Amino acid sequence: MHQEAVVSARIGVPLERSQGEKRVALIPSHVGSLLKSGFEVVVESGAGTASGYPDAQYTAAGATLADAAAIWKSSDVILTVRSGAALSPDVDPKWFRSGQIVIGTMDPWSPHKSFTAYQKAGISAFAMELIPRTTRAQAMDVLSSQANLAGYKGVLLAAELLPKMFPLSMTAAGTIVPAKVFVLGAGVAGLQAIATAKRLGSVVSAFDVRAAVKEQVQSLGAKFIEFDVGDASGSGGYAKELTPEQQAKQKELMAAYVKDIDVIISTAAIPGRPSPKLITEAMVKSMPPGAVIIDLASERGGNCELTEPGKTIVKHGVTIAGPLTIASTVSFHARQLYSKNITTFLLNLVNKEKNIVIDPSDDIVAATLLTHQGKPGSEKLASILGLTSQ
Ligand code: NAD
Repeated sequence: MHQEAVVSARIGVPLERSQGEKRVALIPSHVGSLLKSGFEVVVESGAGTASGYPDAQYTAAGATLADAAAIWKSSDVILTVRSGAALSPDVDPKWFRSGQIVIGTMDPWSPHKSFTAYQKAGISAFAMELIPRTTRAQAMDVLSSQANLAGYKGVLLAAELLPKMFPLSMTAAGTIVPAKVFVLGAGVAGLQAIATAKRLGSVVSAFDVRAAVKEQVQSLGAKFIEFDVGDASGSGGYAKELTPEQQAKQKELMAAYVKDIDVIISTAAIPGRPSPKLITEAMVKSMPPGAVIIDLASERGGNCELTEPGKTIVKHGVTIAGPLTIASTVSFHARQLYSKNITTFLLNLVNKEKNIVIDPSDDIVAATLLTHQGKPGSEKLASILGLTSQ
């Protein structure tokens, strides 16, 4: 009887060590599909606990358990959520193996470049944030899957912090007017924020610098605000950075608009650049007392001049939240979607002969391979990200 070839490789899933990180890279229900392909799966004891998966669920799904050292030393492929593991004091770079593959979010634009430890060790490191926005890569797109959750949870956080109701309510004691929500940046997170704020009954408006977004905003029943700064659509579905003149104009027009706004959900981002500072201190001062800004662009510094990433502060009577791990607070769905993204990515590396191959002619590989055999994955990435050989 013909026996189908299987992948002979060991997948390791270490515990996430970043502060506030509640996700795990692989959930028990995806272990089975990897085992079926022939992979062996080994999970660090306790890796799934914060996201609600006890060790027993992994062993029931067919994975084995081990400690961090054993996982790093013995695995061919390591699946992570955040690559910071390489810098964690309780992960010893001596455990790393040349030729090993590490897949996760690597924060490739950070000046600290945690993945350089991987490069030094000869590890092939893939950054999930760099997945191209193509149809084939859609199921691997972690930025989309996690931004969608962030947009949803950002609105719920605003509703919790705002001393007003979101919906209209007519009662014998008086009429409650709906809250006014303004969404700045209507990409994946922004569109979900619009939909969620609408469902809660608020009056929603939005602005984005990409011309195509207007129709998407309107199709969700929100008002698109025409701050006439010109179309800044860039490549791959992303925005281009505005010129200083365009940005000044945007700020001037926004200043007049936000005076009356109860909640700003800001998500404006440019890949590889710090978040544009679009909400000035003067705008914050002008907002109604008790207003709320949820700055979902905090990971890259935030869209508001006053945002303190990772903190919730009150300035000039306005609450400004700069959450850093907001997707991970919807941990059930965050880990489910992330695990699907990373499993799909991994299976894309397996060829017809059931071998794991790093094929630079594959556009997904070329876009995401940060380091390979001690060097940057490609000259193009090296020049975009400022990578050097170790
Ligand atoms: P992002 O996180 O990089 O940016 C968030 C939003 O901020 C973007 O919509 C951007 O245009 C906007 N922005 C930038 N500067 C701004 C400014 N000065 N003022 C206001 N807004 C500003 O983007 P994202 O949400 O990850 O994705 C952007 C788009 O990519 C999506 O809306 C979608 O159209 C596309 N996309 C395509 C695919 C696919 O085809 N597979 C997958 C995901 C996303």
